[in-house]
Amino acid sequence: MNIPIQCDCGKLRGTALDVDTSSGNRMICLCDDCQTYAHFLRRSKDILDANGGTDITPLRPAKIKFNSGVEHLKCARLSPKGMFRFYAGCCNTPIANTMAPWVPFAGTFTAILKPTGGLPARDAATGPVLERMMSDFGIGPLPPGSSNRPSLKFMLGVVQYFLSGLAKGLNKPSPFFDEDSKTPRVEPYILSKTERESLRKLAGPNPAF
Ligand SMILES: [Zn+2]
Ligand SMILES: [Zn+2]
Repeated sequence: MNIPIQCDCGKLRGTALDVDTSSGNRMICLCDDCQTYAHFLRRSKDILDANGGTDITPLRPAKIKFNSGVEHLKCARLSPKGMFRFYAGCCNTPIANTMAPWVPFAGTFTAILKPTGGLPARDAATGPVLERMMSDFGIGPLPPGSSNRPSLKFMLGVVQYFLSGLAKGLNKPSPFFDEDSKTPRVEPYILSKTERESLRKLAGPNPAF
C-alpha cells in the first residue's frame, strides 16, 4: 500500500511506497534518547505517548519519497556519533531516525503516515505495535508487556528485515543521504553535551518538570 506522508503543518509531503505488515516490527521506544529528542523539538506532548514512548515503524529508505517541501528537512544528532534524526523543521515533526547510509531501514515516526482511510487504514498497513521497549525509561505505570529488552522473536524479525533489505539494496536511493558522498542531505545539527544533558533531565523514568 502506498501511503501519503506529511509533517504536521503539511509543508513537507511525500509517499511511503509498498507499506505492508512485512515492514513489520512496529514498536514503541521508551528510551531516554528518543524522549530527549522530542524535548529538543519542543513537541514532546505531541510526539510522546503518556509513558514517554515514541511510535516507530521501520521503512525502507528506497521506499520513502518526498515530493514537496523537502527544503524543510532537517537533521539532528544527540551526540557526534548519535543516530541521524531527520525532522521537518517547519513544524518540528519527527520524520525518521537512521543509523547510517548503508542501513536498509529508517525508523519512521508512525504518525506521519496518513492514508485516506485514517488510523484504521494506517494500522492495517503497518500492523500493530509489537513491542514497547527500553521500559527502564518509561514514565508511570506501563502497559502490560513493556520490557527493557525486546523479545527474541522481535529481534529475529528485525534481523530478517535488516538482511532482506541489505540483499535487495533498499538503503538507496535515500531521501536522507546523498548517494555518491554518503553524507546526509542536510547538515546535521549536533547537540552539545550541555544541551543534551539539560534536555535529558526531562526524560523518564523520573522527569524533571
Ligand atoms: Zn511542517
Ligand atoms: Zn529510542
